[in-house]
Amino acid sequence: MTIRKKLTILGSGSAGLTAAIYAARANLEPLVIQGMQAGGQLTITTEVENFPGFPDGIQGPELMEEMHKQAERFGTQFIYDNAESVDLTKRPFTVRTSAEEIITDTLLICTGASAKLLGLESESKLMGHGVSACATCDGFFFRDKEVFVVGGGDTALEEAHFLTRFASSVTLIHRREQFRASAIMVDRVKRNPKIKFILDSALVDVHDMTKGEVTGITIKNLKTNQTQDLPADGVFIAIGHKPNTDLFRGGPLELSEAGYIITDGVKTKIKGVFAAGDVQDELYRQAVTAAGTGCMAALEAQWLLETEEAEHEKKTSIAEPKGQPVGST
Ligand code: NDP
Repeated sequence: MTIRKKLTILGSGSAGLTAAIYAARANLEPLVIQGMQAGGQLTITTEVENFPGFPDGIQGPELMEEMHKQAERFGTQFIYDNAESVDLTKRPFTVRTSAEEIITDTLLICTGASAKLLGLESESKLMGHGVSACATCDGFFFRDKEVFVVGGGDTALEEAHFLTRFASSVTLIHRREQFRASAIMVDRVKRNPKIKFILDSALVDVHDMTKGEVTGITIKNLKTNQTQDLPADGVFIAIGHKPNTDLFRGGPLELSEAGYIITDGVKTKIKGVFAAGDVQDELYRQAVTAAGTGCMAALEAQWLLETEEAEHEKKTSIAEPKGQPVGST
């Protein structure tokens, strides 16, 4: 089926849904192609304590559900599918999902970022069988188990803290001595008696691929190069994210070396294509900054469409004068 739209949004995280709220309230009847991880990264996090307006914090999935409802209330249409291809070489642009072809005057790319993995064979083979990249989704399965979390940022520390609700012991493996996480998070984790630390170390293997379950890990001390085997029931990888821009590789959009869409504000180099949120923000990567740039992208698209409509009306009124004044020859 072909759908004709003035404004289409790829992605339904904080950026995409905020853009939808603004575009819907401007009567642009936006279409959101949600992607298969509807709601974006906040749906796989626990407590969000830094989104303004929630003094006691809010669960990530709940925050996204509320944003979705708000966008829907003003008339946003949603498709629960991935965009499979995008043609940005001519305007209007074409987006294809498995079932639809969407022709759109403006496109807002809010596809966010995804969890990075270490790249170990055992990590991918045991993913979902004791290895996970989402403590919120899988923590429950590790009641009274011994688990390890890899990473030193806010996500890793938050996941370690969360996992102590279930696991008998949580050990954080970080490749340096200093944490990247915020001081408040480091304090909280250090005060948690259930959390242990293995610093200056890397996870180099997860056992046991032949059994199809996690029974242990091998870690390597990066200062001494010594390796050590430890028993384990679960491993959580929390080492950051990569932008979801595979769809745009080799296309006309400009991408940074790390794969982020290069923008001027939220404008890409293609007129009518805007990018907002983690897909274009390598630095801040916050739910609130994603929401902010989502708002900016929707406003930019709205202003562009209004300017073009006004120009079109001006041209057609010059080309087709509305009759001669009475009495003229
Ligand atoms: P970050 O990029 O902040 O941290 C990634 C961590 O993983 C770093 O400690 C990094 O080590 C480590 N790492 C990266 N690659 C590897 C590798 N190959 N092997 C081993 N370790 C690796 O990502 P986060 O997901 O933690 O956070 C992203 C953003 O979201 C941040 O701005 C954060 O503040 C925010 N956030 C906020 C939360 C909150 O306020 N409640 C909760 C979660 C996230 P190194 O330090 O050595 O580079």
